[in-house]
Amino acid sequence: MRKKIVAGNWKMNNDLEAGKKLAQEVLDKATGNEEAQIVLGTPFIHLTALAETVVGKKGIEVAAQNCSDKASGAYTGETSAEMIKSTGVNYVILGHSERREYFNETNAELAAKLDLALANGLTPIFCCGEPLEIREADTQYDYVKQQLTESLFHLSDEDFAKIVIAYEPIWAIGTGKTATSAQAQEMHAELRSHLASKFGQAAADACPILYGGSCKPSNAKEIFEGADVDGGLIGGASLNADDFLAIVNSF
Ligand code: PEP
Repeated sequence: MRKKIVAGNWKMNNDLEAGKKLAQEVLDKATGNEEAQIVLGTPFIHLTALAETVVGKKGIEVAAQNCSDKASGAYTGETSAEMIKSTGVNYVILGHSERREYFNETNAELAAKLDLALANGLTPIFCCGEPLEIREADTQYDYVKQQLTESLFHLSDEDFAKIVIAYEPIWAIGTGKTATSAQAQEMHAELRSHLASKFGQAAADACPILYGGSCKPSNAKEIFEGADVDGGLIGGASLNADDFLAIVNSF
């Protein structure tokens, strides 16, 4: 059976104390028998503290929200995959649409980030998804498949087996508009068959594909019912421990 994962994306929210408090609340309220692997995607400032207090407890993991596409050196303000791994966390979110849009991240740069994340033992949660105009033009499958082809298809079979994918239609992120469960399932199935064309059916069948976009306790169960939907990447609702845990247990 494929691994179920629900990852929070705190984005640029929570100062150090607020982040520690929220993570502690998730840890305290989690039973350790959740229906999905919990991952907290936090700003860099929280990684070291949460690696000590939360990672590995009740199965909880922590993710950075980005890493550099360079290994090291004179890149002021950047944080490398190796540095992230040295904090003790095991995951990194890559290619979130906000990074693609506001920081001009390209599929080629994301391919380099993926390589560095994998080389440093981090599990990448690779985000993909189409903007509204692409959905309206009904070309979303080609658009998202191209993101996967250009960032992932150079991976070895061994590396591909380590990654998690998050499909996040941009028009559904932070807008309160969710894809219908049918739209999510259709896209996930398309992506899985695209992955199978490159890496084989068994490898594609083993790859967790998460849905993201205005997922909340009231709609998570329906969305997660899709046969190819293996969990969620959760923005706004991950800032509240009860809402986040309710989503984690929505399968
Ligand atoms: C996200 O940022 O990945 C996201 C899905 O946000 P929200 O849940 O707030 O739409």
